[in-house]
Amino acid sequence: MIRSVLFLGLSLGLYGQGLLTIPEQSQYRRTSTVHEVKVFMDLLQQTFPDLQPYQPREAPARTEMGQPLRAWRIKATRRDSVRVYINANIHAGEVEGKEAVQMLVREWLQGKHPQLRESIDLVIMPCYNAEGTDLLDPRNRVHQPNPESGVGIRENAQGLDLNRDLMKVETTNTRWILSMFQAFNPHVVMDLHTTNGSYHGFYLTYAPALAPGFEPLMTLNREILLDVRKELYRKNFPVFDYGNFSYESRDMSKLTEANDPPFISSPKSWETFDWRPRFLTNYPSLRGRLSILSEAYVYRTFQERVLETKSFVLECLKVIRQRASFIRTITAQAEKEHPTLLPLSATPKLTERFVFDVIEPIRDSQGKLIGEKNRRQVELPALTSYQYSDWVPLPSGYLIYGDHLEDIKKRLSAHSIPYKKAVREHYSALHFSFIEKERKESPRPFQGIKTLSLVGEWVLQDKSLWPKDKLRNAIYVPLIQGKARLAFYLLDPRSPDGFVYWRLMESKDILAIAPKNGQPLTGPSSQSNFEGQE
Ligand SMILES: [Zn+2]
Repeated sequence: MIRSVLFLGLSLGLYGQGLLTIPEQSQYRRTSTVHEVKVFMDLLQQTFPDLQPYQPREAPARTEMGQPLRAWRIKATRRDSVRVYINANIHAGEVEGKEAVQMLVREWLQGKHPQLRESIDLVIMPCYNAEGTDLLDPRNRVHQPNPESGVGIRENAQGLDLNRDLMKVETTNTRWILSMFQAFNPHVVMDLHTTNGSYHGFYLTYAPALAPGFEPLMTLNREILLDVRKELYRKNFPVFDYGNFSYESRDMSKLTEANDPPFISSPKSWETFDWRPRFLTNYPSLRGRLSILSEAYVYRTFQERVLETKSFVLECLKVIRQRASFIRTITAQAEKEHPTLLPLSATPKLTERFVFDVIEPIRDSQGKLIGEKNRRQVELPALTSYQYSDWVPLPSGYLIYGDHLEDIKKRLSAHSIPYKKAVREHYSALHFSFIEKERKESPRPFQGIKTLSLVGEWVLQDKSLWPKDKLRNAIYVPLIQGKARLAFYLLDPRSPDGFVYWRLMESKDILAIAPKNGQPLTGPSSQSNFEGQE
């Protein structure tokens, strides 16, 4: 009784404050915990029953440490809707998206965006890295203007970066999100971040999916963001493709604490980040889906970062609504495509020339930006998309057998990649085995793993290479429509983000079956490697 009176009092208190989020209640001195997000969403739900908790079928409900994985859904009122999934706090030090999505949902339910509400089927996940979310500490991310509560940490409790886990599926969170891909099947995925320390003149930077997807889908992804950029510039909200200034390597030797990069010499270009599908916003293009990365600018105030993230998301949703029927058409085409060649490497390419603001910062002892000495404008090449290279033919499918088979089956299922027991048709097909020419193990572990980059090629073999009993116990993974790209990047031993790279299987555990069109399975074989997203 006392508890319910207390709860009623608390509820009325919050109603009195007009359903405010934790930052709004505290004049942006605090950010929410996992529990506080639930309390806010429960209160919203009491007033607006259209808001429903969302849990994908067969998805884990909690993280390894028992923290709840909670999402919410507001269904569109029209049948021909676009499904959008918004993820926040994958890096739990970057809390702005977590707060912005709560405010966005409140506005959505209060009827402030009636056209969007009608045509967008929305799922939001405010605390994706639920373990990092509650580890609030003012000592985290001290270089940014912080709420007094501090912010959470980047990694999960196992020390893993959830935004590098999409392909290897090491964490419960990734299993949750892959179940969401299967069950909710979003047309668009958004992931909300904050930059780490780059200096530039934008309030927010963004990126489309960069892993090589169906060409018309990749074009549409860029066009959506160009529309958003145009509209936001009209509102004096400068945004651009996510990236950093890059310099001639000789200039880097002059770098000291006192000299910030932009003023040592002029930057030579603006470059985007890694194209590999381990990132949540790169992965969707391998499944024929669109995505948007949002990176609030670290040196804006906490309140500005939250509100600007919300404005950016809203502008994206407006453009998504305007282009809804095209989005449905192109994603449906992407599900039917069957690529015959896919690239193993990529290099950033000139996408446009743009006039950038280059800032000379004034920083305090903790590296926090407290002012600007100078700002000048420089026109530079913007390398914000990729030129893909080292195109190789795809087999019609793979046979897999080995010590790790049961584990591989689980990971394939997590990605919704179909497989079946190998049968006679597969034993009698033309088999290619992978011949390694060069093995390069990373000198240091990355995400706890010494990754393996292989150079080599598929070579046609005598059928006797694998004995009959091995073939009989193998699984067959077909490269079928809509899943061919993903299966290829998970299974080809040369893939820079596949199971061999992550040491989950060996190249001897896999055979390729000849393509149906009789194309040879040979081609170049190299990898590219770099990191850099914040
Ligand atoms: Zn981040």
